[in-house]
Amino acid sequence: GVAFLDGQYLPMSEAKISVLDWGFLHSDATYDTVHVWNGRFFRLDLHIERFFGGMERLRMSIPFTREQVTEILHNCVALSGHRASYVEMLTTRGASPTFSRDPRDAINRFMAFAVPFGSVANAEQRERGLHVAISNRIRIPPASVDPEIKNYHWLDLVRGLYDAYDSKAETALLLDFNGNVAEGPGFNVFAVKEGKLSTPAIGVLAGITRRTVFDLSGELGLDCNAVDVSVTALKSADEVFITSTAGGIMPVTKIDGGLIADGKVGPITRKLEKLYWDKHEDPAWS
Ligand code: PMP
Repeated sequence: GVAFLDGQYLPMSEAKISVLDWGFLHSDATYDTVHVWNGRFFRLDLHIERFFGGMERLRMSIPFTREQVTEILHNCVALSGHRASYVEMLTTRGASPTFSRDPRDAINRFMAFAVPFGSVANAEQRERGLHVAISNRIRIPPASVDPEIKNYHWLDLVRGLYDAYDSKAETALLLDFNGNVAEGPGFNVFAVKEGKLSTPAIGVLAGITRRTVFDLSGELGLDCNAVDVSVTALKSADEVFITSTAGGIMPVTKIDGGLIADGKVGPITRKLEKLYWDKHEDPAWS
């Protein structure tokens, strides 16, 4: 992989930051990840927009425009030479030269990198569907702070993952403050019931793949709504799937050891999944 740091393109192993960086010490950072498939970005503008929006809300600034960041990302991908990549852009609060505790004194730091992409779900998992455990942990920040800010805070999600692995599931879903389903480690969730789609409205990151599902549902004439999704509603859905940039649309066929419907990947999930990958070949969506 190749990184961009302090104006230079470097091999990943040489891209290093200070341990005094607030991004590291306080999770005071925002980031975005983009997917490159067959050498092409997917919905890059939306990721750039969310990234710049996050920096603005966090009062961070970098000496690059949206166009320059776009070019830097393209360069990282070209230099790393892979057709499929996981690309990340990030800005940390940085470190204060005087070790002052005032965030305004810190020098914000922008970085980017592209590494060969390994999908978060393999072919076998996509075929049979994932097994998800519902953790009774609450997904706290950053979504409750601002659903538009993408931040590295994952303490709750990592603990949820360990709960899931202990129960032989493959990933976890956490709850919102009201006990409804929220999101998991790096993904949003959807339920399909009687041909209608629903996805949690609160306590979640405004995922770009989630938004893509709204767009694709519109194209397919399917009803799709952001609403409260209870654990019972999720478990009794006809189909369940999860969404993320690093995995696209991924079917879920088992929750807490119980099958979703007949335990097979459902037709609406399959249709959306196919359309999702088809859009990667469509220049209008790059
Ligand atoms: N929720 C969380 C907590 C995430 O970290 C991510 C992806 N990194 C998502 C949802 C999915 O968002 P997107 O579709 O934009 O990748």
